[in-house]
Amino acid sequence: MTAPEEIPATDAYQTWTEATVVEVSPEGVVLDRTVFYARGGGQPGDTGRLRWNGGQVRVNDTFKQSGIPVHAIEGEPPPDGTSVTAEIDWDRRHVLMRTHTALHALSGIIWRDYGAKVTGGNMEPGVARMDFELESMSSEFGKEVEAKLNQELDADRPVRVEFLSRLEAMRDPDLIRTKVNLIPETIDPIRVVTIEGLDRQADGGTHVRSTGEVGPVRVIKTESKGKAFKRMRIELHRSDPGG
Ligand SMILES: [Zn+2]
Repeated sequence: MTAPEEIPATDAYQTWTEATVVEVSPEGVVLDRTVFYARGGGQPGDTGRLRWNGGQVRVNDTFKQSGIPVHAIEGEPPPDGTSVTAEIDWDRRHVLMRTHTALHALSGIIWRDYGAKVTGGNMEPGVARMDFELESMSSEFGKEVEAKLNQELDADRPVRVEFLSRLEAMRDPDLIRTKVNLIPETIDPIRVVTIEGLDRQADGGTHVRSTGEVGPVRVIKTESKGKAFKRMRIELHRSDPGG
């Protein structure tokens, strides 16, 4: 099987596509191309639906199996070879895009102003957490970061996606800092997401076009999980679908 075309990698705003079923297994359905984002890098997999002549099925989750996006479904799958229309739950995905871009802006600020690296992160639609190699964390610190974060988001910084050769990526200081060397050697080119003037990292996720689209964000919790292990939780003000 040739690798399916993964549209979210190049166009986060495409909500549906025509596609052909190329594999059906107990785990789900593989299409020759898809607009569904397969979970990874802290971003949940997309949900939505597959429709075809005579049928329709919910997609509950999308994940990768041996590097191939698999659509986990609820009910009877379309048979192998069926032409389908694959459509994501766009409202949910758009909230995830805003959430993901907010997290990158946060990591850019924490590095720029406090010199701390990100050690982990995770998100749900509208809420996210990020872990930092920081010595201390307080609610005052949370307020300070919240103000900076909203200022940067409000500056409406453009968000760019590009593909760099592995060789180029290994020479980029921002990418070295964010541990680009840990990306498996088989991955070349490497996808890079840049918030102009603020953050740059290798990333597979879906993002909004500019930080203004994120809207205001609140820091809802700051926690110490240990020495040089601090956690911050953020929430979008408007996280209702379509909000
Ligand atoms: Zn990311």
